Amino acid sequence: MLLQDMKTIPWRYISQILFTVLVLWIGIEFFLFVHQLESGQPVTIRRPPGVEAFLPIASLMSLRYWLATGIFTPIHPSGLVIFMVILTIAIFLKKAFCSWVCPIGFLSEMLARVQKWIFGQSRYLPRWLDWPLRSLKYLLLGFFLWAILVQMDIAGIAAFLESPYSRVSDIKMLKFFTDMSPLTARVLAGLFLLSILIPYFWCRYLCPYGALLGGLSWLSPLKIRRNAASCTDCKKCTKVCPSNIPVHLKNTVYSDECHACLTCVAACPVKNTLDFSTSKPSLKLDSLRVVMVILCLFLGSSLLARALGVWHNDITVQEYREHVRKMSDGLEYSHPGR
Ligand code: SF4
Ligand code: SF4
Repeated sequence: MLLQDMKTIPWRYISQILFTVLVLWIGIEFFLFVHQLESGQPVTIRRPPGVEAFLPIASLMSLRYWLATGIFTPIHPSGLVIFMVILTIAIFLKKAFCSWVCPIGFLSEMLARVQKWIFGQSRYLPRWLDWPLRSLKYLLLGFFLWAILVQMDIAGIAAFLESPYSRVSDIKMLKFFTDMSPLTARVLAGLFLLSILIPYFWCRYLCPYGALLGGLSWLSPLKIRRNAASCTDCKKCTKVCPSNIPVHLKNTVYSDECHACLTCVAACPVKNTLDFSTSKPSLKLDSLRVVMVILCLFLGSSLLARALGVWHNDITVQEYREHVRKMSDGLEYSHPGR
């Protein structure tokens, strides 16, 4: 009975809200930390390491550097840990990160609901336009992979990771939002509006992180699988799919756009007809199990990284103060590649 009740709880929304609150808390803590540095006050707030989750390009470089040299970066170590957790989720749970964890995915979902509320139904771009636009995020991903994996050698990556720019890239990322240029504000407002007009505009067409996870999600042994023998062809699964996948026509959903939200599974009226499962031997994951796997991966890896001493970076408050002073004096901390 208790287990049955647990299954009716909207675990995905709880997960999204939990991670969004966590991200906001990390953002506020980091803002206050930087404010204390800039104002010359004693620093009483500890920099939250989770802020490095927003530096995926540095994390990709750190991953390559670690694989090539065996040295786990001391500059943004938690960024690398979180990056590997997210890649692991994609390899085993399709793009579940996008619909269970990512706050941008959550915001996109809310904006897609606004569109449905305005127009009475979800409106997608026609396929002839949708397909080429979906390739944009793969082009962006291809550029980053080419720049990091082909153009840079290990010495270049080491030089980048050690550069002053890299050491304060978290502060630069904060300033991108707190000292926003008019152009940046206009671009973000445009993306916001486009995400209301076209569901998941950023996620579906432009997010290179989503493209990376979509590529890896092909490896996932867990996929949406339909039992054609018991399927009544009611099409309820297809109607609710936020990724506009014709689920009722697929025996297995391979699509890189499937973010394992399990909305189709919940909508299917016939028991044991649509599942998030492996092929053989069959292992099924329901919403509760998905959220438990995701939470265990994040919590476990964070605790393990702390135990191994690779969670906090080795940049001291004094060094941060020095960087902040130089930046406020107008000294340019530009990208080493420029
Ligand atoms: S509704 Fe089903 S097929 Fe569509 S994205 Fe969610 S899990 Fe994938
Ligand atoms: S909702 Fe279930 S029964 Fe209906 S078409 Fe989809 S898989 Fe078949």
